[in-house]
Amino acid sequence: MPTLYIVATPIGNLEDISMRALRILGEVDFILCEDTRVTAKLLSHYSVKTPTISYHQHSSEKKQARILNLLKDGNSLALVSDAGTPGISDPGGKLVQAVIEKFNASVRVESVPGPSAVTAALSISGIPTDKYVFMGFPPHKKGRQTFIERITDSIYPVVVYESKHRIIKFLEELKDLNKKIIKKNQAIDDSVEVRHGASKKKKELKLQKRTPVTSVVVCRELSKMHETVYRGGLDHITEQIKNNQDDQKGEFVVIVGK
Ligand code: SAM
Repeated sequence: MPTLYIVATPIGNLEDISMRALRILGEVDFILCEDTRVTAKLLSHYSVKTPTISYHQHSSEKKQARILNLLKDGNSLALVSDAGTPGISDPGGKLVQAVIEKFNASVRVESVPGPSAVTAALSISGIPTDKYVFMGFPPHKKGRQTFIERITDSIYPVVVYESKHRIIKFLEELKDLNKKIIKKNQAIDDSVEVRHGASKKKKELKLQKRTPVTSVVVCRELSKMHETVYRGGLDHITEQIKNNQDDQKGEFVVIVGK
């Protein structure tokens, strides 16, 4: 049966790829790549000679139809992104959905699990992560403030991807909102203090309080030469990264703890 394999690839260290992933990349008819030049490095490192086809978030409907036809004609395909697990803040979801809708059970969709920056970061965070919320990238402009408010509203730790261009901006914005929450909580406490008696009203007021961010973990360049993990209070970590240009380079995962 033709199969679309969703194959996880390393997020930095080229050794972080499973034996099954390498076998499947070598066996399929074509590899669909977010960027064929990026994947070429991985394939050449492991001497995989399978032909590649570019497939990314801006690929046209026509391109998708061509890919679906390859499956219809009996070809098996592997989908990879530049790094990590396809579909996790990466192209993939739309194709998987289209394959399921078009072929029902006549084409298999199989996962080839492996690295993902979200799970790598959580695993070393030291924050209790039996429950967490993954929110991906904050929007650049429209909706950014709401996005950050949703992080502070969460009762579970929140994982966010952020680029080097906006990491300081993100931490500063989170810090500002957190300060407002602490100030508002204090105002609520003060007003509860002066209300003697009316206990129902007091309860209502207390319910308006939001839990401030207590700690953050910023993971930079996971599994790469300059892997660095910053753990601590939001203000302290923001200052630390802000004060050192080198700490602002590379790729980042931020875990906001409650
Ligand atoms: N699909 C990928 C995954 O499974 O993790 C994520 C792709 S997303 C386009 C890229 C973002 O993931 C980066 O901007 C960064 O936030 C995070 N990321 C990827 N590799 C990383 C690494 N080695 N260290 C820290 N963050 C990383």
